[in-house]
Amino acid sequence: MALVVMKFGGSSVANRERLFNVAGIVTRCAAEGNEVVVVVSAQGDTTDDLIEKANEITHKAPKREMDMLLSTGEQISASLLAMAIDSLGFKAISLTGGQAGFRTSSAHTSARIKKVNTERIRSELDNNNIVVVTGFQGVDQSEDITTLGRGGSDTSAVAIAAAMHADVCKIFTDVDGVYTADPRKIRNAKKLKEISFDEMLEIASLGAQVLLNRSVELAQKYNVKLEVLSSLSGNPGTIVKEVIDLEGMLIKGVTKDTSFVSVSIMEIPDQYGVAFKLFSLLGAKGINVDVILQSVARDQTRDISFTVPSADLDTVKAVLDENARALGSSGYAIDDDVAKVSIVGAGMMSHAGVAARMFRALSDAGINIKMISTSEIKISVIVARKDADRAVEAVHDEFINE
Ligand code: ADP
Ligand code: ASP
Ligand code: MG
Repeated sequence: MALVVMKFGGSSVANRERLFNVAGIVTRCAAEGNEVVVVVSAQGDTTDDLIEKANEITHKAPKREMDMLLSTGEQISASLLAMAIDSLGFKAISLTGGQAGFRTSSAHTSARIKKVNTERIRSELDNNNIVVVTGFQGVDQSEDITTLGRGGSDTSAVAIAAAMHADVCKIFTDVDGVYTADPRKIRNAKKLKEISFDEMLEIASLGAQVLLNRSVELAQKYNVKLEVLSSLSGNPGTIVKEVIDLEGMLIKGVTKDTSFVSVSIMEIPDQYGVAFKLFSLLGAKGINVDVILQSVARDQTRDISFTVPSADLDTVKAVLDENARALGSSGYAIDDDVAKVSIVGAGMMSHAGVAARMFRALSDAGINIKMISTSEIKISVIVARKDADRAVEAVHDEFINE
């Protein structure tokens, strides 16, 4: 007997037919003698629709109330799935995040999981129940409902798998697994049989929605065996694990991210301590700065450009407006017409010339590179947003269809 955690995303539970499809998958697994914990997302676009409802009332909703609202989406799918399982003649019980033992920080709408007290889930399994848990939510120390940030049900599933030492955590979604690029955008994207945690973490962080990066981080930390697969096709999925064959493909994924803007600060004094001052001011506001580019000094001044999440732009502007004098800059400019296109692969550690091949592919496609950033297993370029899809295609053709 194994303990299996299964997570089903929004499209997998979108309607009656899909719910019964999930109930079928879950009950077959239980009928094979396994203990099953199921984590569900809200149905279809429910979370977006709830945000829209809040916007009809106010654009400045208190975050605590947003969590109260958004958490209802998962309660609908969890209770309906438990009913569907029950109607197939299996015992099932649905639990909210709080009932399932999720204790989180109080950072409403982006809370962190502190602990999962698994006693309730354990005792329901011992009572021969299939346990259905609402993803994406928990409670803080005051028992107030919190949510974990968009896409957070992946993290809920991995957290339960880690806390209960599950044998496997299966993430069911609407594609057959992790592909070399978004299979909905790139026709000849290839499904990966397996991928390492390190590579998956980069791919998730660089814009592929298929797994939330925080869930990958958690899976790696607690060595949870992850599988990403389709709830509809029945095909084998992608296994995410610690070590995989490095002799395989050079590049595992090409990603696109358009969720950030580039900020350029002009003519700041060419002195020590200036970058420190600038980035500590942003750090103090919790702003996550990504790609940073500093120009060579001219007339004792330099320009510094960096990227920040679009959602933080107002805060960044406020920091720069308040501190213009202290920084000694002549002003700043925002470029929101940007996208980050990246290649990820552990194989590039042992191969020279990967960057040159990526840049050649972009050059052949007539695409200008605005900024570049690299790490051991990834290369990212910032390009104009209108060029992003063509850039992904050109780079994907270069490395994947070689
Ligand atoms: P769920 O609702 O199941 O959590 P998501 O919409 O969050 O599903 O994630 C699945 C989607 O991720 C797919 O429909 C696909 O369009 C997108 N995606 C982006 N990049 C990739 C990739 N490299 N491999 C697989 N899917 C990807
Ligand atoms: N329903 C939430 C969202 O749409 C959480 C999730 O689906 O993972 O972000
Ligand atoms: Mg998702």
